[in-house]
Amino acid sequence: MSDYEAIIGMEVHAQLLTRSKMFCGCDANVFGAEPNTHVCPVCLGLPGSLPVINRRAVEQAILVGLALHCQIAETAVFSRKNYFYPDLPKSYQISMYDFPLCQQGWIGIEGAEGSPKRIRIRRVHLEEDTGKLFHAGNYSLVDFNRSGLPLLEIVTEPDLRTPEEARQYLVKLRTILRYLGVSSGDMEKGAMRCEANVSVRPVGVPEFGTKVEVKNLNSFRAVKLALEYEIRRQTQVLAHGGQVRQVTMGWNEGQGRTVEQRAKEEADDYRYFPEPDLPPLRISRAWVDELAARLPELPDARRARFVAQYGLSASEAAVLTSDRDVADYFEAAVQAGRERGIPPRPISHWLSGELFRLLKAENIEIGQTRVTPAALAELVALVETGAITAHSGKAVLQEMFATGRRAGEIATGATQVDDQEVLAQIVEQVLAAHPEQVNRYRAGKTTLLNWFVGEVMKATRGKANPQVVTALLERKLNP
Ligand code: ADP
Ligand code: MG
Ligand code: ZN
Repeated sequence: MSDYEAIIGMEVHAQLLTRSKMFCGCDANVFGAEPNTHVCPVCLGLPGSLPVINRRAVEQAILVGLALHCQIAETAVFSRKNYFYPDLPKSYQISMYDFPLCQQGWIGIEGAEGSPKRIRIRRVHLEEDTGKLFHAGNYSLVDFNRSGLPLLEIVTEPDLRTPEEARQYLVKLRTILRYLGVSSGDMEKGAMRCEANVSVRPVGVPEFGTKVEVKNLNSFRAVKLALEYEIRRQTQVLAHGGQVRQVTMGWNEGQGRTVEQRAKEEADDYRYFPEPDLPPLRISRAWVDELAARLPELPDARRARFVAQYGLSASEAAVLTSDRDVADYFEAAVQAGRERGIPPRPISHWLSGELFRLLKAENIEIGQTRVTPAALAELVALVETGAITAHSGKAVLQEMFATGRRAGEIATGATQVDDQEVLAQIVEQVLAAHPEQVNRYRAGKTTLLNWFVGEVMKATRGKANPQVVTALLERKLNP
């Protein structure tokens, strides 16, 4: 029996974070709202209503196109995609067809063999979302709040080869969308939806096999399981001399298998034609340049910078840059640590170790914790200077996390000593007891400052305010 390999292409729909909908002024923040409260004649598809293009949605789409190294069209055209379904009151969806907004980009992933690989992006285009059906016994209800929300569709070339590569691609895409602030990317809330196209062919055969489209993938796990299942199924069909039929399948999570939904529709079925109620969208190069200037530092660049600037390992940097808020938090903590003479490495360690563990246990995000970056830096400084052990540091962090109190306070069970006079005396004593270190410091070994801070901390059993101590030491050591 010959070996088989899979060919995978992904289609992702991401909800954009605009204030109003794609073609009307309705509030786009519909999550959790009473059904049919965010609607108007436009998004209900009433006759005579006219769409207006949401400028913010176009800007967000162009930002994504730029971040994915795409060519941005000079003219993009909205087209009608015609089909009937009860969640689509107009009987057509405004989308883009032959003139999409962005084309020919790529996303870098690690690749199955650990060697960097580019997944080509075929197109990125804008469209509107449909309403949502709720099936109740022998009838259905429809909520049009979602109707007309801006969606970005991102389609790859068939460049993915394994379920793991597909997962990496999706994670990377979501990270980029979040860095840009254009989508929450929350799959559980339907803000990011994936469809996987997958085919199988004998290794060595140049042509692609017949593909199957799998819908209803609501998590990264579902994508992986569905692809594994489909690859196994198609391989068996081919190995037994059969033919894969081109169909659309749904992933049935409960049964752990794909289920045929319908025969694959062709482009012709949709009778695409340019939307007569909207002008072609002209995108000036000046506008694109303006948007390009607004691009934030993206995950790959930030990861490389973290390695170069902070001396982190590639995997540490990957963890810290996988979320923009985490990366921002880390850099703020590094800044606060620098003022205490603490290097980035232990801060990375405490953040991605203990603090992550606490966040996960409480199921909250970094932005919701009461431990500020400066507070984390203070804790790390206490441990690094030897004022407290790493072991008690964990307990201290736990209490900081629960109460929002500062490390110095908790470490001693008492309020910190930051009385200048008291601390000045202790600093004098420490310096007097270590003349050799004082000389070495004054001869240029300024990294000894940390060691002195640690000595004062020990002398006060961790009660001293390290900032005050640092300032006092600097003053005394540099007369
Ligand atoms: P369709 O017209 O059926 O939607 P497209 O050519 O537009 O097909 O491709 C849709 C998606 O399927 C793209 O992501 C593409 O990369 C992927 N794809 C195309 N051909 C194959 C194939 N033989 N096997 C797996 N994926 C494929
Ligand atoms: Mg398609
Ligand atoms: Zn509306």
